[in-house]
Amino acid sequence: SVRVRFAPSPTGLLHIGGLRTALYNYLFAKGNNGTFVLRIEDTDQARYVEGAEEDIHRSLKWAGMEVDEGPENPGDVGPYRQSERKDMYEQYAEQLVEQGNAYYAFDTPEELDQMRERLKKSGNPSPKYDAITRMSMKNSLTLPEEEVERKLEEGEEYVIRLKVPRRETIRFEDEVRGFVSFESKGLDDQVLLKSDGMPTYHLANVVDDHLMKISHVIRGEEWLSSTPKHILMYEYFGWEPPKMAHLPLIMSPSGGKLSKRKAETEGIPINTKDYIEQKFEPEALVNFLAYLGWSPGDDSEIHSLEELCDLFSLDRVSKGGAVFDYKKLIWYNEHYLREKPADELWPRVQEIAKEHDLDPDEGYMKQIIPLMKERVSKVEDFVTMGRFFFEDPEEYEDKAVKKWKDNSAELLEAYVEKIEELDGDDFEAKTLKDKIKEVIEEYDVGFGPVMMPLRVAVSGMGYGPDLTPTIELLGKETTIRRINTAIE
Ligand code: GLU
Repeated sequence: SVRVRFAPSPTGLLHIGGLRTALYNYLFAKGNNGTFVLRIEDTDQARYVEGAEEDIHRSLKWAGMEVDEGPENPGDVGPYRQSERKDMYEQYAEQLVEQGNAYYAFDTPEELDQMRERLKKSGNPSPKYDAITRMSMKNSLTLPEEEVERKLEEGEEYVIRLKVPRRETIRFEDEVRGFVSFESKGLDDQVLLKSDGMPTYHLANVVDDHLMKISHVIRGEEWLSSTPKHILMYEYFGWEPPKMAHLPLIMSPSGGKLSKRKAETEGIPINTKDYIEQKFEPEALVNFLAYLGWSPGDDSEIHSLEELCDLFSLDRVSKGGAVFDYKKLIWYNEHYLREKPADELWPRVQEIAKEHDLDPDEGYMKQIIPLMKERVSKVEDFVTMGRFFFEDPEEYEDKAVKKWKDNSAELLEAYVEKIEELDGDDFEAKTLKDKIKEVIEEYDVGFGPVMMPLRVAVSGMGYGPDLTPTIELLGKETTIRRINTAIE
């Protein structure tokens, strides 16, 4: 059966790339009647960030991804935090030592530094601890057995390293990239167990994927180079490796990997938390992220999380980097906002309004929402762009002021005269539009010369929702007051 895991390290806020990895795992699990496991990889105490795990839970929930097994709802293969599994790893490292696939290494940090310096000087840009280095360092492979025993007994500090074979080609099939091969001479003798007894990512990851019966490892491309080491370990343990799938990098629009710094300079929110705080529609971010490195193979673009589960397949994940198109994300956000009925949006709009010191009437707001839907990109726009529905404009947008012409005042005066006659039910969009037409005919001008200044006068902006329904909602008194203020 399909079992996948999202295995983030709680080293900071969950970024958008992490959320995409979670999403692809989720989609693959749900589309294959599988199980979506959340495992917290928190063995690196030095990089642990307080609150990061909560941020992961919150982000997944917000995006609508329900975890089948995880720290909050454990299944049979827990615990689901690696820090709570600490004691399980050492025996596996020892097993590899006994089998001759790993060894104790007693090098001090100073010695390792010297080694790196030496190798760098000899023209090696990325010094590795490999078969060659092994010989020059006093590790258990080159020391007589008694000496190893003695060192262990004396309590000398050691790490356990994977013994990477000298000349071997390590091959595996990646579900996205096809066959991948690595030469073992390019690999480090990876540390598996640190001197404090804590496992490294590599040991814990492989042991847990095995013990948690993970069938497919779906993760970012940055882990591809770790995979040959993992494949070696599976081989040494005699375990069948899970299927591997490495997801393409997320690229910045200006080229290169979308790093934190790049995202910042290009105005792209990088953490899921940013999207939550900016009140994006979760459906929009999910739909957008699904297409960031995958497509269903037709030209459909809009799909709910549920539909995406049915459509998703690993063989349609792209190999090449996926460019983050922020405009497209906004497009998705607009789409999902428009789909939501006013009843659903109202409580959110009310909350935002309160943050802006406004206290809108529910009935009034529920008339404003449908009117503004075609113009808003984010839910807060209902309040920021729609502020004029509650307050007379205090200033006029520069862009809008430019639309004010010499004859504007005269045309608006004529309009005021006409709408002053409208009472009660007659003050409605269609009639208000007819009155604009009358002015146009009488003064022999186009639509623009009347509509533009009228919009500026009532809303302070050069752009906004359909004008005459807006005026109807504002009401006669407010409209006339605002026009008169603008004319002065
Ligand atoms: N803990 C790793 C991370 O933070 C997991 C990588 C993997 O999925 O194997 O991304």
